[in-house]
Amino acid sequence: MENSLKETSRFLQELGITTPSVVIDQPRVRANIKSMALRCQEAGVRFRPHFKTHQSGAVGAWFQEEGVDGITVSSLAMAEYFAEFGWRDITLAFLLNPLELPRLGILARYLASRRGRLGLTVDSPAAARLLAESGLPVDAWIKIDAGYGRTGVAWDDAEGLNTIGQALGPGLKPVGLLTHSGHSYQARTRTNLQAIWETTLGRMRFAGDILDPAHRPAISVGDTPCCCTVESLAGADEVRPGNFVFFDLMQLEIGSCDESQLAAAVACPVVGLYPESGRLVVQGGAVHLAKDSLPGPHGQALFGKLGTLNFDEGKEASPGPILHQAPVVNLSQEHGVISVATEDFQSLLGDLEIGDLVLVWPVHSCLTCDLHSHYHTLDGAVLPRR
Ligand code: PLP
Repeated sequence: MENSLKETSRFLQELGITTPSVVIDQPRVRANIKSMALRCQEAGVRFRPHFKTHQSGAVGAWFQEEGVDGITVSSLAMAEYFAEFGWRDITLAFLLNPLELPRLGILARYLASRRGRLGLTVDSPAAARLLAESGLPVDAWIKIDAGYGRTGVAWDDAEGLNTIGQALGPGLKPVGLLTHSGHSYQARTRTNLQAIWETTLGRMRFAGDILDPAHRPAISVGDTPCCCTVESLAGADEVRPGNFVFFDLMQLEIGSCDESQLAAAVACPVVGLYPESGRLVVQGGAVHLAKDSLPGPHGQALFGKLGTLNFDEGKEASPGPILHQAPVVNLSQEHGVISVATEDFQSLLGDLEIGDLVLVWPVHSCLTCDLHSHYHTLDGAVLPRR
């Protein structure tokens, strides 16, 4: 019987792949979008997905089909890119960079002239003042630190919050408070994630009451681990998960998804086979996979895992099981080293040859995809990305 890695290689070659390339499974991506849209709908929460993971106009259109009309991005260039695809309601959830104010102004006026809106975030009186003085037609969000410790005014810093509010002035009353609880990535159980979610919401409400107890500002939260696992998204006004569109080995480790939801892998050419030392080397290094890692079973860093495709009767392909026994254990700029026990080498890799293509599931799909200019879909399309 033919080895499924060999069949996977043949299929990927028929897609025209010759260099490391991201391959996505459209049905899984659409199912991930649909399921998050449904969770938001059930909770009566606005869904403002973060588009930094896919950064593709074509994938963005699949969100539109699920009724999404407002998005989150993390750079001005990304905001401009999606504005060109017709998105009108864009939150740039990265602290204001004053050096970009002239270019931000062009985009803000463009969106406002089309009955859209650019949302910007500040967490200091200085940034708030600059934004107010710019006179730009934007929505101002105050970034809150609800426990992550990256950016944001501390959730219980009444003086800080009020000073920022005053610096925005009457003309730019904040539309809401925004936070990202990135510490959810350290959690490994639903109980922990539920606790992070509830603490975050409680702290955001506290901050909102400081700012305006009569009309508490909108609360925008969101990270994939919490948004995928908490009992209900109710309590937030808006959520901004992004990674869930493709998921990855990190999310699998956290418990945000299961294997059947992983939707983006990297097809890598095999360039070295070393059965005596249990190594398979691919053209697929840090510049193709990104260097985020997870601890492996023996404590060593793991940068990805080998995968295969399944084929139905009509030879339609879908992602197959992850080969957990074949982790990427070393990455240099262009090389990826996959380790396979010498005694399993033959049975697992079979007749794989130099020049074949293998699939590698990445640890952090956002960073991996950011290194590529397009996606191949398993149904044969090529989708450009920013
Ligand atoms: N909002 C902000 C401000 C973020 O920084 C991020 C991710 O870094 C997100 C939302 C989306 O979170 P996730 O990548 O967990 O989906």
